[in-house]
Amino acid sequence: MRKQIAAANWKMNLTYQQGEELLDEILSAGVKLNEHQQAIFAVPSPYLLMTRSTVEEELNYFASAQNCYNKKSGAYTGEVSAEMLNSINIKYCVLGHSERREYFIESNAMLAEKVNLCLENFVTPIFCCGEPLAIREAGTQNEFVATQLKESLFHLPAEKIKTLIIAYEPIWAIGTGKTATTEQAQEIHKYLRSVLADQYGEEVANEIPILYGGSVKANNAKELFASPDVDGGLVGGASLVAADFVEIIKALK
Ligand code: PEP
Repeated sequence: MRKQIAAANWKMNLTYQQGEELLDEILSAGVKLNEHQQAIFAVPSPYLLMTRSTVEEELNYFASAQNCYNKKSGAYTGEVSAEMLNSINIKYCVLGHSERREYFIESNAMLAEKVNLCLENFVTPIFCCGEPLAIREAGTQNEFVATQLKESLFHLPAEKIKTLIIAYEPIWAIGTGKTATTEQAQEIHKYLRSVLADQYGEEVANEIPILYGGSVKANNAKELFASPDVDGGLVGGASLVAADFVEIIKALK
């Protein structure tokens, strides 16, 4: 079975102490994951080591970065490289979140460079794609997200792309309380998988987890994750509340 993943995105929230407490509360719920399930915590950079050492005792719980830079190393004050993440044993990194695309003007080409650097450094990208509201209203969301995949990922050979995690996050659903319906999520996830299959074949496309993100909550996760092409979620707001995120982990197939 394809990996099923509950990924928390804390964004720029919580103090270090609040982060420690949240992780302790989540872990104390004692949810055991099976071999195809994972819980991943994308935390602010100063919390990466604490998060890694807190969750690594539990099977299939991992820490993730929220971003890294598109250069190998050098005079880029304030940035974090994929090599640095690998050097502290951080194995995941969110790339291309819509907030980074919007506020930090990250282009598909820049994201392709970040993807390469992550893979060279044994860090698995959690690659985000998704359309803004105007594109959804114009009905051109499929073309929009296909272009994001093509321009940032399709230079990769099959054996590399199949190690990635993709997160489909319609921008109009992020932090708005407006969730895509289960049908909308399944429809576009199935389409994304067909785009991957056209390029790489069905076997490869079937191995890549595609997470849904956009107002996933404790009360809608089970229904969303039940769809055949929805392999879990990337969760912002609800990942900051222990009881809610525990329910979301429990909702994994
Ligand atoms: C996100 O941060 O990627 C996200 C989907 O946020 P929220 O769950 O709050 O909509």
